[in-house]
Amino acid sequence: MATNVEYTDAPATRPEPSAGDKMPCPYCGHLLPKDAERCDQCDWTRPATQTAEGKASDAVAVLFSIIPGLGHIYKGHILAGFLWMAGAIPVGIFVVLAAFASAGWGLGLFFFYLAAVMLHAYAVVDRVAPLRPDEGEEY
Ligand SMILES: [Zn+2]
Repeated sequence: MATNVEYTDAPATRPEPSAGDKMPCPYCGHLLPKDAERCDQCDWTRPATQTAEGKASDAVAVLFSIIPGLGHIYKGHILAGFLWMAGAIPVGIFVVLAAFASAGWGLGLFFFYLAAVMLHAYAVVDRVAPLRPDEGEEY
């Protein structure tokens, strides 16, 4: 008489740790528990990538935006930062041409661009906080 083997749990369906409770280490990419305070593979610690309130300073981002894009890069939006920086080149050329055409007044146009960059750098959500894995929000 054979033992009654239960096959219901035969396929090893170990519950995969859902991506929701894991986060990659900001330094080495090692998967860590979401609330990990440090990485066991490298020397990352949570305070290293978080300010006291867990956010990059909006004011500092605006200051950095004197150079278009730098404020975005400061907040972790590397791609957006370089896009703003690249955008400043054609805008700068246009402004110089406009300045020649308008005896200097065109230079003022660049401040509109700078204002737009600063406003965006201020408003954009920084990507320092590891609890927001929203890769879709680049801008
Ligand atoms: Zn690590």
